[in-house]
Amino acid sequence: MFNEKSTDKISKVLNFSYFAEKLLRWYPSNKRDLPWRNTQNPYIIWLSEIILQQTRVAQGLPYFEKFIESYPTVSDLAMAPVEDVLRLWQGLGYYSRARNLHQCAKQIVEDFDGQFPTTYKELLKLKGVGQYTAAAIASFAYKEQVAVLDGNVFRVLSRYFGIDTDISGSKGKKEFQELADAAIPKKHPDEYNQAIMEFGALQCTPKKATCDTCPLQSSCYAFANDLVEKLPVKNKKVKVSTRAFLYHDIVCGDGKVVRTRGPKDIWQGLTDFPLVEFSSPENINPEDSNLFHELQAFSPTVNFEKEKTYKHILSHQKIFSNFVSFNIPEDYQSALEKWADSKGFLFCDSEKLETLGKPQLIVKYLNDKK
Ligand code: SF4
Repeated sequence: MFNEKSTDKISKVLNFSYFAEKLLRWYPSNKRDLPWRNTQNPYIIWLSEIILQQTRVAQGLPYFEKFIESYPTVSDLAMAPVEDVLRLWQGLGYYSRARNLHQCAKQIVEDFDGQFPTTYKELLKLKGVGQYTAAAIASFAYKEQVAVLDGNVFRVLSRYFGIDTDISGSKGKKEFQELADAAIPKKHPDEYNQAIMEFGALQCTPKKATCDTCPLQSSCYAFANDLVEKLPVKNKKVKVSTRAFLYHDIVCGDGKVVRTRGPKDIWQGLTDFPLVEFSSPENINPEDSNLFHELQAFSPTVNFEKEKTYKHILSHQKIFSNFVSFNIPEDYQSALEKWADSKGFLFCDSEKLETLGKPQLIVKYLNDKK
């Protein structure tokens, strides 16, 4: 006879194996056919995982294809100038991912002889590779029994097993990681990890989960207790700040004055225009910009449209931007270049500007001007 504890333990194990088996059966006939599936190449897996962080598949797919075409191997990526990598990444956002991607490729070439490490523990040593990505590579490429934990997995586990611990806190992360580690089967850990993520993306979705056709419905805690809409619990609200930029679009002949964005702020390493930041969008006023007054000495032609505001939303920031443009006669080009140099800016022609990675807000503005 079993005591209560061991009965619990056994029913848990049985439940885990039932859960895994259902997911493994569901996966082959429901999975999307994506280019990073059905491969054990760690480079392809790593690249796709980094691109897909905070990015929908439909948005990430063309970027993945561009990267594979431009850099077929990790060595090709390591040898590329970082500016080219940032330019290829343009529009995907979260640019630290692109910088880390490049640094990680270099690290693999320099420290690991061009070969990806083959264990979860070693993979964690790579730049920009956290627990989730290390687990994905270790399981998909090397079949190591380590569980991935992303938003989809949190949701499926929380609903199916009825866990209401807040997933945004460290306690929740620990609890869910333990649950995920216990649920992953020894056999086919690679397929299982892919299956649970795909199941969360396609069946057990954040809104309107398709419980009616769900193979786990009969034993799902959330379904039985009418908690599907309430789980998982996520209490932490992201604090969003508002920023107000006045960009100075300084045109002279075929060139513009630009600058490379520095560290400790958004869009590090990307190219934008000289700017002055204001306390709020309502306060944006060229008359309060020193740059504006300095540039007026070069240019009689100034254009500012207060009502034409570009709004750009990031995860933690809402950015409102106005542009003031200056059309400077070509006679002043060398004086303008000297001025730009003294400010740490750069005068660059349109062909060069096209090759540089720029924030989407700048790309949109430039496209509107065409
Ligand atoms: S029954 Fe609904 S909530 Fe439960 S696992 Fe299936 S899709 Fe998710």
